Amino acid sequence: MDLKALIRDIPDFPQPGVIFRDITTLLKEPKGLKYVIDSLALECEKLENTPDYIIGIESRGFIFAPALAYHLDAGFVPVRKKGKLPADVHSIEYQLEYGTDTLEIHQDAIPSGSKVMIVDDVIATGGTAKATSDLVQQIGSELVAFGFIVELTGLEGRKKLPDLPCISLVEY
Ligand code: IMP
Repeated sequence: MDLKALIRDIPDFPQPGVIFRDITTLLKEPKGLKYVIDSLALECEKLENTPDYIIGIESRGFIFAPALAYHLDAGFVPVRKKGKLPADVHSIEYQLEYGTDTLEIHQDAIPSGSKVMIVDDVIATGGTAKATSDLVQQIGSELVAFGFIVELTGLEGRKKLPDLPCISLVEY
């Protein structure tokens, strides 16, 4: 499947000079979601360590991570923006281009020693995925891989991440 043909480019969103890769056009394609989940699952089969839990990053990671977890018979764990999770959390503040943001995970979300994979729709600068990997470290789980639909290679986000398998299905 030609993923680039299904992903819509929106110039100057959310700010001038940025080309936003819009995956809603891929999702509405009847076989689009199935194709990307099957493709991620196929790549996961090649991993040395199979994940027990798939972490999805709010909000577009919530589209893909649960579907992958279902496919792999793994658990799904949400990492959310500040103040959304009801029980005790670990938090991490990270740098955005302008200002900071905070991500949180339930302290008891993942049994210690479990293998974990982080999934999001897009890796750009890598800041979001890196912050999430720091959260995984805080809860004492073993991170085994990252998975993305889209990788914006020019921003070299992958270089920010720990040296682990990093799956992406389409590169710009
Ligand atoms: P990073 O932290 O710079 O790697 O940005 C990744 C985060 O921003 C992800 O959670 C994405 O959902 C979002 N993001 C950045 N660029 C795009 C884009 O072009 N399309 C969709 N989401 C994007």
